[in-house]
Amino acid sequence: MTGSPSSARLSTAEIIAVGTELLTPFRSDTNSLFVTARLNELGIVVRRKSIVGDDAVDLGRAVRDALDRADLLVVCGGLGPTDDDLTRETVAAVLGRALREDPSIVEHLRTRFAARKWTMPENNRRQASVPDEAVVLDNPRGTAPGLWLETGDRVVVLLPGPPRELEPMFTALAHTRLASRAAPERLYRRVLRVTGRGESHVEEMTQRVYDRWRQVDPPVGTTVLASPGLVELHLSTRAASREAALGVLDAATGELAAVLGNHLFSTDGRSLSEVVGELLQRDGFRVAVGESCTGGLVTARLVDIPGSSSYVETGVVAYSNEVKRRVLGVDPELLTTEGAVSEAVAVAMAEGARRVGATDIGIGVTGVAGPGGGSDEKPVGTVCVGVVGPGSEQEARTAQFPGDRAMIRRLATQTALDLLRRVLLRRTRERATVRGG
Ligand code: ATP
Ligand code: MG
Repeated sequence: MTGSPSSARLSTAEIIAVGTELLTPFRSDTNSLFVTARLNELGIVVRRKSIVGDDAVDLGRAVRDALDRADLLVVCGGLGPTDDDLTRETVAAVLGRALREDPSIVEHLRTRFAARKWTMPENNRRQASVPDEAVVLDNPRGTAPGLWLETGDRVVVLLPGPPRELEPMFTALAHTRLASRAAPERLYRRVLRVTGRGESHVEEMTQRVYDRWRQVDPPVGTTVLASPGLVELHLSTRAASREAALGVLDAATGELAAVLGNHLFSTDGRSLSEVVGELLQRDGFRVAVGESCTGGLVTARLVDIPGSSSYVETGVVAYSNEVKRRVLGVDPELLTTEGAVSEAVAVAMAEGARRVGATDIGIGVTGVAGPGGGSDEKPVGTVCVGVVGPGSEQEARTAQFPGDRAMIRRLATQTALDLLRRVLLRRTRERATVRGG
């Protein structure tokens, strides 16, 4: 039997996700991502994760192995009322604890069911059985309570599988019992988002800076994460004081921002559409989109942001040349001489959208998304974007994207939003120059 509760620091963790459905192609384990994020904030490092089916032997073995290695074990799922929910019994057996029914939990379950005018199935009583010396964790959103168990200096936490139940329970635990058992250092992060440059280019631009920040105290670690049209630099540091952590993160961010210039669009979690939206709002501009190969994606990304009605007027999907002519007023001559995929047509589409929407700014996108329709001169992946306005300003870009249809359309969307961002930013600089001079 264990004596008084331990106060040993928890610094490493393992996570086990339980559920046969998680071993199929139809469900994936997302709980461990949530749990990892909360643990990292506490400075607890996740060293290993496993997924096991609803099988007592497999689960028992996974629990024993994990407890040989980590200070903290978090088990998600399998606390339900049915026969395939084995977590409670299996963990109790591994720890050599007897299970006893807790009458107050039975009462709580009956009340929950009664509130919905249901009678409690007898099965649910299983959720009231508690291993000796376990602490019961409230589950405000479901029937299965969680459990906190200590064995020597180690801790085992059992949580229900449904994310909407697990998340608030684990957050509450992270602020209370886990916080008091974690070391005083906490992990702080900052995410820098870059577009218009590929991963290796971003590495090349920033490596000298972040290599140096690795040597300072507290050191700043950097991870580069790339996805189509977006590169993220994740800076992180562990420190006992928030001020110390934010101090180094701010300073490192400042230096990285200087080398990244205009390619950096966000250091505070904002997405590209949010940044563009804020620039439009700042200047009081409204925008209209004329898009072909993106089929509405540019408009959709703009209206993803709450409050976008104050700057988005309309989006016209002009997929056929006929609609490019008739609705956007693109000159048929231009379509023949330059081709539908050309900077001239992208600009004419932007101009047409601006006229249709009576806005300050128009965006035009046209391209070859593939897999068919490419030519030697304009292969699959050729995309032209244009931005017109405010006033007589106009800008166009041609890009050659890799990948399949979905990827090309995503990259085209990102490029169109980014071109608009750059046009709006240039105005910021010009205004600053006028004011300064
Ligand atoms: P219940 O009372 O719902 O049976 P439980 O604790 O037994 O609770 P599970 O049966 O293991 O939980 O899972 C219930 C549902 O929660 C699963 O169908 C799945 O959709 C979701 N779920 C379980 N584990 C995970 C996980 N690791 N990541 C994401 N979702 C999960
Ligand atoms: Mg279940």
